[in-house]
Amino acid sequence: MRKNEKGFRCSFCGRDKSEALILIAGVDGHICETCVEQAQEIIEDELYSGQEITDQDDLLLSESIYPINIKDHLDEYIIGQDEAKKFLSVAVYNHYKRLRQTKSNDIEIEKSNILFVGNTGTGKTLLAKTIAKFLNVPFSIVDATVFTEAGYVGEDVESILSRLLQVCDYNVKQAEKGIIYIDEIDKIARKGDNPSITRDVSGEGVQQAMLKMLEGTDVNVPPQGGRKHPEQKLVKVNTENILFICGGAFDGIERIIANRMNTQVIGFNSAEKDRVDTENLIKYVTHKDLKSFGLIPEIIGRLPVLAYLEPLDIEALKAILTKPKNALVKQYQKLFDLEGIALSFSQDAIDFISEKAMEYQLGARGLRSICEAIMMDAMFELPSQKEITEFQITKEYAEEKLGGSKLSKLKVA
Ligand code: ADP
Repeated sequence: MRKNEKGFRCSFCGRDKSEALILIAGVDGHICETCVEQAQEIIEDELYSGQEITDQDDLLLSESIYPINIKDHLDEYIIGQDEAKKFLSVAVYNHYKRLRQTKSNDIEIEKSNILFVGNTGTGKTLLAKTIAKFLNVPFSIVDATVFTEAGYVGEDVESILSRLLQVCDYNVKQAEKGIIYIDEIDKIARKGDNPSITRDVSGEGVQQAMLKMLEGTDVNVPPQGGRKHPEQKLVKVNTENILFICGGAFDGIERIIANRMNTQVIGFNSAEKDRVDTENLIKYVTHKDLKSFGLIPEIIGRLPVLAYLEPLDIEALKAILTKPKNALVKQYQKLFDLEGIALSFSQDAIDFISEKAMEYQLGARGLRSICEAIMMDAMFELPSQKEITEFQITKEYAEEKLGGSKLSKLKVA
C-alpha cells in the first residue's frame, strides 16, 4: 500500500502533490501543470498539423451547381467582364470537382490556378472575393510586392499562407480548401534580359519560391506571417487544394501583344488586320506574352487559366454605380435609410460621377472616392436634421460638392 494514500496525485502522470507545483482538481481526478502543458501541445499539434480532407459532405459545391450558376452569381455583383467570369466559373467548378474526385482514380486532374490580366480597378480582386464568398471558403488577399527571396529584407513567400490561416482562425483543414488572391503578380516579373551584377531579389527569386506552393506541397508556415524565426513554431499547410488566383495590370503588355500580332499578321490580307481590335489588345493576351513580360515559364505553367479584364467604359461605370447587388448608390441609400431619409440620385448626377471617374482615370475605384467627396456634407449634416425625410443628389449638387473637394484638384493625365 502506498504511503501517501490520502494525498492527491496527478491522474495522468501519477506525481503526487509534493512533486507538482500545481495540482488542478477535476470531478474524478487531478492534473498537474506539466501534464496541462503537454496536453496543450497535443491540442496544438492536432489542430495545426495538415489534415487530409476526407469529409466529402463538407465539400463546397453541391452536385447541382454548374459553371452557369456560378457565373449567374458573379453577374449579380460584377459588371461586364464576361470572359473572365466564364473562365473563373469553369476553373472553380473544375477545381472543386477535382476535390470531390476520389484519390484512387488513375487520371489525376491538375489544379486550375488562374491568372487575371487587366488594368487596375477593373474588378480582378472583386471577382476573386465574390467567388470565395459564394463558396464560403476562407479567402485572403496578398500583395506579391512584399515578398523577397529568402535571406533578403521582406517577407518570405510562405507568409502568403499565414494570412489565410489567420482568417480561418488557424483551422488548417479549412485553410487547405481556401482561395488566395495574389495581387500585383506582374511586379515580380524578371527585370528585363539585361544581365545584372546585383541579384534580382524581388523578381525571379520570388517566382521560384512560389512555384511549389502554387502547384501543391506541404509548406511550413510562420503562423504570424513575416519572416521565419528559428524559435517560431511552424504550422504545416498543404496547398494542393488551395486555389490561387493571381492578378496584375501588366503595364506595357499591349506593346508586347502588338509586336507579336504584327509579326503574325504579316502575310495576311488587310481584312484580317481590320478584325483586330486595336483599342483593346489585352484580349489577345497569351501565355507567350507573359513570358516576354518577365514571368518565368514554370510560373506560367502553374497558372494555366489565363483571362483578361476589359478596361471599363463609361457605360460600365454607370452600371457599376447602380446595378450590382451592393452598388455604391444602393449602399448610400441604405445608410440614409437607416436615418429615415429616402436618398435618390438623378440620372445626370450618375452620368456626371461616371464621367469624372473616367476623367481621373481611376477605373471603378475612382467612383468611391468621388462619391465620398460628394456625399460627405450630406452624411455630416443630415442625420441630425430630423425634419428631412428625402434627399436628392442632382448633377448641380454633385458638381458643387466635388468642386470644393481635394479630388477636384486631381491632375488629369
Ligand atoms: P482590381 O482590378 O484592381 O483588383 P478591384 O476589383 O479591387 O480592382 O476593384 C476596385 C473596386 O471597383 C471594387 O471594390 C468594386 O467596387 C469596383 N469594381 C471594379 N470593377 C468592377 C466591375 N466590373 N463591376 C462592379 N464593380 C467593380
